Amino acid sequence: MKHFPIFMALEGRRVVLSGGGEAALAKLRLLLKTEAKLTVVSDNAAPEIRDWAAQGRLSLINRAMEPGDAICASLFYAANENDAEDARVAALAHRDGALVNIVDNLADSQFITPAIVDRDPVTVAIGTEGAAPVLARSIKKSLEEQLSPNLGLMARIGKAFRSKVEALPFGAKRRAFWSDYYAADVADADVAQERLEDLLDKHLHAPEREGWVDLVGAGPGDPELLTLKARKALDNADVVIYDRLVAPEILELARREAVMLSAGKEGFGPSVTQDAINEMIVSHARGGAHVVRLKSGDPTVFGRLDEEIEACEASGVKWTIVPGITSASAGVAALGQSLTKRGRNSAVRLITGHDTKGYADHDWRALAQPGEVAAIYMGKKSARFIQGRLLMHGANPDTPVTVIENASRASQRILSTKLSELEPSLTEANFDGPALVFLGLAPRAALQVADQFEQKEAAV
Ligand code: SAH
Repeated sequence: MKHFPIFMALEGRRVVLSGGGEAALAKLRLLLKTEAKLTVVSDNAAPEIRDWAAQGRLSLINRAMEPGDAICASLFYAANENDAEDARVAALAHRDGALVNIVDNLADSQFITPAIVDRDPVTVAIGTEGAAPVLARSIKKSLEEQLSPNLGLMARIGKAFRSKVEALPFGAKRRAFWSDYYAADVADADVAQERLEDLLDKHLHAPEREGWVDLVGAGPGDPELLTLKARKALDNADVVIYDRLVAPEILELARREAVMLSAGKEGFGPSVTQDAINEMIVSHARGGAHVVRLKSGDPTVFGRLDEEIEACEASGVKWTIVPGITSASAGVAALGQSLTKRGRNSAVRLITGHDTKGYADHDWRALAQPGEVAAIYMGKKSARFIQGRLLMHGANPDTPVTVIENASRASQRILSTKLSELEPSLTEANFDGPALVFLGLAPRAALQVADQFEQKEAAV
């Protein structure tokens, strides 16, 4: 961003413009909407400018610009439509200490004037840093259509009413009041005033809003793999409590005013205890907030979901589950495989490499059978343990094993190997993101070439 947008208070401040033709008129029409003290310096001012001077709306100095004309000016516009004259007056104004804009000369201007959608006091400024004036115009056009012409009137009346709305507690309740007010288009000041009084009465006497918890699956990382329900929950959340594995691009989608709290659980043992997370969820919901508990993948898969549900139930807090795409689904999709296949495996196991107590034990004898397919979550650190147990129980050393790191993200990597080589291949690949181990699945043959390439890259 080369230009930082700000709104400048111009009431009573000096703004000087040099020029008297079309470019000057266009700028002056905008500047006359402000409460600045306008001075035009021109020996050739258009009749419209002379009229404005006669009406006292600006001061006109009937000569070419001289040193000192821009003294004490906050802003200065060079609008002579003549490069040499603009450069001369800009240098003078610069010496006088004003911020200088040269019309249609971005490179030599210290500030630029954006395209404006005016619903005073609501003003939308659109700038493209000179990159795409046509785009700025089309954005302006669509905003002009979108924003009711009555918006300014409603905002002015709303502003005068703000102190009364302080009777409502700060936060969700006040927000709900204002979004109710702005939901309807009102063209008449008296009607708007009446509406404000009625709405305030309604909101002051509304029954206490109950908070609730959405236990939401954030998917494996790619924001496009979020469900529409998850998007909606994020759009409306008051509080978002998220796990470490939730991708930053997804957190960006939360409502801007939402309080974002990290539940920061690490792979081996939580760094924020589960009890503390439960307490966080329940206390915000009991305070009336819409809490989104955001978990990677699907919340029902290795997400300690039941403990959080039980905490909600114990406190009488309402909850819902919004399912997400689990990383096993994203992982097989990247391998071009399916999780189950007629004639190969009619069952698939989702297992974990470790639990809260350490390496997790499983029915190794069953898992060691030919044709078994398992998606092993949190299996990176326990890969050697799993490999040893399976081989000990008679698994074929050539059983395909595929490890996929950061499934669905731009940083996704795939290691295609076999059981006897899982370690040390996995350690050598140096995966540092979340990874899923697929036992009994290789990438589809058509993808093998690419995988081998990636495997080599991973080994470098
Ligand atoms: N509820 C999640 C799993 C949480 S357990 C889900 O449904 O996916 C955390 C484990 O999930 C990680 O250790 C890793 O094994 C796996 N995981 C999560 N996101 C992943 C991703 N993008 N790629 C590969 N594995 C992932």
